[in-house]
Amino acid sequence: MISGQNKNKLISILEHKNYEAVGDSFIIFPDDMNNLGSIIKISNRFGIKLIPIGSGTTFGSGFKPPDNTVFLSTQRLNKILDIDRNNMFIELQAGCIWKQVFLSLAGQDLYFPIDADSIRAKRTAGGIFCSLKPDSSVSNYFTGIEFYAPDGTLMKYGCKTLKNVAGYDLVKFMTGSFGKFGIVTSLMIRLLPSKDNFFKFEDLENVTQQTRQFTENDIYKKLKNDLDPNSVFE
Ligand SMILES: Cc1cc2nc3c(=O)[nH]c(=O)nc-3n(C[C@H](O)[C@H](O)[C@H](O)COP(=O)(O)OP(=O)(O)OC[C@H]3O[C@@H](n4cnc5c(N)ncnc54)[C@H](O)[C@@H]3O)c2cc1C
Repeated sequence: MISGQNKNKLISILEHKNYEAVGDSFIIFPDDMNNLGSIIKISNRFGIKLIPIGSGTTFGSGFKPPDNTVFLSTQRLNKILDIDRNNMFIELQAGCIWKQVFLSLAGQDLYFPIDADSIRAKRTAGGIFCSLKPDSSVSNYFTGIEFYAPDGTLMKYGCKTLKNVAGYDLVKFMTGSFGKFGIVTSLMIRLLPSKDNFFKFEDLENVTQQTRQFTENDIYKKLKNDLDPNSVFE
């Protein structure tokens, strides 16, 4: 449960729209990138905890969020930013519904190597990316990312070329991160021209990992401490 005072701070940033209270849960749906950045900064300042979600399909009714926690949904950040048919790339916002977008692309002979039939309705691009196994073959087709870090800084990394920069690969770092290091706002994804010969379709089930199983890992704990010292992202 979040305190009335903190709830009101968030509601005023959201200009009194784009939120929902369901039982003890408070869910906010920013529809604007600036609003989203302000929400993260305010949360950092006032000790509000955020759980990024897409459609929230992996959070059953049994999930009890810790005190002072808010679900932060990307559902209204759902625009396709660019389809580059010549270079075969799509850039989309994290709240796009995967099945809808990729079935439409398949109709234009542009493919991604996860079998669309294995993906149930409502799954968002951000939710799928943040649940993927980082060592799965399909994770290599994500080449660029934009996300808000825990201090409210907007990070943009990667582009359409496959090998573009030296240094730490932030796309891989955020793959399968389950919302622990920031909220993904958009993704750059490489597409393929034919479903024959170029790749093997994977079932989503085989390339997804169990939620939050890595959180007991020492490397994770150190990174979490360094990158999100106030534990804004729950
Ligand atoms: C073993 C296993 C097998 C599965 N098999 C299937 C299957 O066959 N078919 C299928 O459709 N689904 C399957 N799923 C679920 C699937 O992998 C995804 O978790 C789900 O599709 C994502 O849906 P969503 O958009 O509602 O994400 P959510 O449930 O909202 O979020 C999923 C996770 O990602 C985080 N997250 C979501 N969006 C963001 C964001 N923008 N930035 C940062 N973090 C974010 C959340 O905090 C959460 O930890 C399986 C899951 C598991 C664990």
